[in-house]
Amino acid sequence: MTDMWERVERLIGADSLGRLAEKTVAVVGLGSGGGFVAVSLAMSGVGRFVLVDNDVLEAGNVTRHVADLRYVGWNKAEAVADLILNRNPEAQVETRAGLIDDHWDCLDDVDILVAAVDSEQVKFTINERCLEKGLCASYAGVYERGEGGDHVIIRPFDGPCYACWSEATRDGVMVAMGAGGELDYGMIGEAGTLEAEPGLWVNVTKVAGIQTDLIINELLRGSSAHEPMPANTLIVTNSYMDIFEGQENDPHTATWLEIARDPDCLVCGERLKQGVSKLVEGDAGSISLADLAASGLTTDIEFEDEDD
Ligand SMILES: [Zn+2]
Repeated sequence: MTDMWERVERLIGADSLGRLAEKTVAVVGLGSGGGFVAVSLAMSGVGRFVLVDNDVLEAGNVTRHVADLRYVGWNKAEAVADLILNRNPEAQVETRAGLIDDHWDCLDDVDILVAAVDSEQVKFTINERCLEKGLCASYAGVYERGEGGDHVIIRPFDGPCYACWSEATRDGVMVAMGAGGELDYGMIGEAGTLEAEPGLWVNVTKVAGIQTDLIINELLRGSSAHEPMPANTLIVTNSYMDIFEGQENDPHTATWLEIARDPDCLVCGERLKQGVSKLVEGDAGSISLADLAASGLTTDIEFEDEDD
């Protein structure tokens, strides 16, 4: 590490910095949120990236993007890769210009995936792939007009998958927000993307900054620098917001919320059941947590106590 990292090292310690330098983060979607997270992770010492985006940066993007007018016409993944290398020339950055559907192979050696795509449909596809691969994923959402946002890290078969989580948060828990208006986070348009009015850069980056911090914490899991969080979901407000019906949160506050796995979830519930029955057939009916973990279907079960 060069002198460039002296201050980060003083803050997080040489051991953590060394760990982060060896970690690979995939960011799928390099828009406002994903671009900010990728560059911020690089500035915090994460050494390896896989960046996937199909889009080209337009002039209209630069008031809400880490890349400025110099990058107009660039693929967004390539623009963010350039920004990362200008912060940390030693970083290894692989870019894929295209849709994630054509690039699943690039996730093989990744430590965590940042699902920063607009499309809820694509997030659900990413969720299924991550469960298959046993890959942790970070999902953040910014609410309409940037009034707030939320973040969750999904650990495969350890807590909810994104489908259970999204069912609970988007349809149930957050019922109303803003000046007496209905929750419109879930206004999903024909293209499968959130149709909500975007917030200002500062509203997006507040959520993305917290997301970055929580990703770093997740990457340090297993080390003394890792801090257990109070719950799996953080909801951040930028303005007055009803997170729970009848309970108004002040601007610039945050609330932790534990979202449980839905045992009947069509995505993780069924797969977990199938995995268990497959093991029962093959192994005379005796199943231990270690068996489940070894099956690859429940990779994280054995790490449940790792926080301690
Ligand atoms: Zn699920």
